[in-house]
Amino acid sequence: MFKVLRVVVLLLVLMSVFGTYLMQQNINKNWSGARSIKIIPVYADDKDSTRDFVDSLDERDFEEIADYLEKSARPYRLNLSNALLITLEPPISEIPPALPSAKNGFISQVMWSLKLRWWAWQNQSSDYSDSQIRLFVMYQSPAQNVVLPHSTGLRNGLLGLINVRAERGDKRLHNVILTHELLHIFGATDKYDLQTGQPLFPQGYVKPKQNPRWPQPYAELMGRAIPMSRSRFEVAERLSQTRIGELTAREIGWLDQAE
Ligand SMILES: [Zn+2]
Repeated sequence: MFKVLRVVVLLLVLMSVFGTYLMQQNINKNWSGARSIKIIPVYADDKDSTRDFVDSLDERDFEEIADYLEKSARPYRLNLSNALLITLEPPISEIPPALPSAKNGFISQVMWSLKLRWWAWQNQSSDYSDSQIRLFVMYQSPAQNVVLPHSTGLRNGLLGLINVRAERGDKRLHNVILTHELLHIFGATDKYDLQTGQPLFPQGYVKPKQNPRWPQPYAELMGRAIPMSRSRFEVAERLSQTRIGELTAREIGWLDQAE
């Protein structure tokens, strides 16, 4: 009986997902007007150090994300001042369903996506609205020494799942990852080789026409790393080491909305 009920609930969630799908696709590329972006920290393990780290987070830790996007949008004649409202929500303890591996096939991907929506629905705040973007940040103790699962920004659903280490020195790096995943939600694609991490040429380069080509001065935000030579690259550890390239700007709709 419980199983049937679960399926019914999942189907209802699925229907509501379809209901909001088209609307969210439009909202994604609309940069006019205020956008609410909620950061929801998740205690991803039960270590005291993780809890202490998460409890010490402050909204100001994430301020540079809005500043960075505002500054990056300016060359595209897009005024984002006060348009991005990034707020820090109270932490939660319930971790999202684990992403199935690619070899598990289509059905398990669909099931995962349903379970994820169910989880996100259960963990929404009282002022949740369909146009709100939610970034769930899973903080894990660096002592666990495990390979963190890949972070994901889901365009359909307006949510991001971000895996990071609860390490004080990594806070600036966390903002690079959060902004990268946020732009996925707005439609940006990855611009690095997913196997090797190497930025792709030319799309993963901020100055693809620079001569000599290497070293590049910045990392393209969706390319993640600064290309230093043909084979060497350095992963950007702070937003100031990155720029948003023209292709990414086009993908997220910045070129369509210039005044
Ligand atoms: Zn990515």
